[in-house]
Amino acid sequence: MPAFRAPRGTRDLLPDDRATFDRLQATGTGLASRYGYRPIETPIFEQAAVFERGIGSVTDVVEKELFRIAPRSEEAESWALRPEPTAGIVRAYIQHGMQTWPQPVKLTTTGPMFRYDRPQAGRYRQFWQFDVEAIGDPGPAVDAEIVELGFRFYAEVGVAGVEVLLNSIGDPACRPAYIEELVAYYRARADVLPPTERDRLERNALRLLDSKDPAMTELNAGAPRITDRLCAACAEHFAAVQAHLSLLGVPFRIEPGLVRGLDYYTRTAFEYYVAGREGQQQALGGGGRYDGLVELLGGRPTPGIGFGLGLDRVALVLAEQGSAAVAVDGPLAVVVGADPEDTATRLKVATDLRAARLRVRADLGRRKLGRQLEAAGKDGAHFAVILGDELAQGQVQVRDLLAGTQRVVGIDDLARALARAEANHHHG
Ligand code: AMP
Repeated sequence: MPAFRAPRGTRDLLPDDRATFDRLQATGTGLASRYGYRPIETPIFEQAAVFERGIGSVTDVVEKELFRIAPRSEEAESWALRPEPTAGIVRAYIQHGMQTWPQPVKLTTTGPMFRYDRPQAGRYRQFWQFDVEAIGDPGPAVDAEIVELGFRFYAEVGVAGVEVLLNSIGDPACRPAYIEELVAYYRARADVLPPTERDRLERNALRLLDSKDPAMTELNAGAPRITDRLCAACAEHFAAVQAHLSLLGVPFRIEPGLVRGLDYYTRTAFEYYVAGREGQQQALGGGGRYDGLVELLGGRPTPGIGFGLGLDRVALVLAEQGSAAVAVDGPLAVVVGADPEDTATRLKVATDLRAARLRVRADLGRRKLGRQLEAAGKDGAHFAVILGDELAQGQVQVRDLLAGTQRVVGIDDLARALARAEANHHHG
């Protein structure tokens, strides 16, 4: 056992994993940019109140999972690592007066999120999300744009069989009456409610609907459905979102039990799953409309909608589905030398080639030429630049490791010759 290990619930992304994440992030950022979402970066920690107020204090994310930073005695501020990006982005929207920008303000970010939860497969204390937010548009068209964007993300990164679950959770006009009805329904069945759910009932009854406790399955199946109790405005919005999605050809399934974990959601709520895998730690991503959030955090009433897609789970599913890992290109060339001691010349030649923007490794080991060439082959290099006796005449040997051919090239012409060979290789 090593003396130190990565903290519980965190993982090292080794180069192959990091390459996969790079690809996911690049796909997300590229897609968002195609749809007109511009990148933003907010701090990974905020005043804890941003999350407490924004996400709601009676939510698992804040009550149990908020990764708090112990305040240093001289500082009054209480901080927490972000459990999700929306609250911080909305805080930035208000702070920087984005209300005066052309609306909606469409933003995207990708980065690590933190939840102090019990770690298990697919659930980490540090995980990555690709996130988009459209602030200042009441929908319904932008709701469909965002749901479709997420759906396309999975298609472009190569996850097979993704389905969209969709719901409307109403708004302050219709939700309170619905929640009353829901509370009455569960109270009448209090004798069969598991204790944790009984406790939640009085504080956040909506959450019982997406309880993963098997004892709740039957109870929840008979519960009143929000989709039957939407006010006229919410019902119309919900119908329009569905119509837009159908027109875009995005398949979706209405799931009245989908309420999402955070308090700030209104109306549209959605999640992405691989069909047939809809367990608790299996949501690939989710999002929703948050028309009350800007006001909650001190801004003018402003509608908004967004999603967060979990990249760790996408990477897991891609690996399970046997999707090819990112092919790592070897260097264009490795500089090797006949004189085991002369690492300085190898490094100098490689440095000049790198300055000419070529991908070049220098073999800096004091080992025999044969070994250096062997390693260059294993590296997947296309060429070996061999420094030998010809160096006195300003020349080197260039061996094409793929073709098995070798020729003499003047050192002054080396960068140009390699660049030309690379271009031919890629276009040939
Ligand atoms: P949420 O806002 O909780 O719905 O999270 C959005 C997405 O982030 C989820 O669908 C997951 O893919 C991912 N996610 C959330 N929490 C975790 C976690 N603890 N570990 C890994 N991924 C997570």
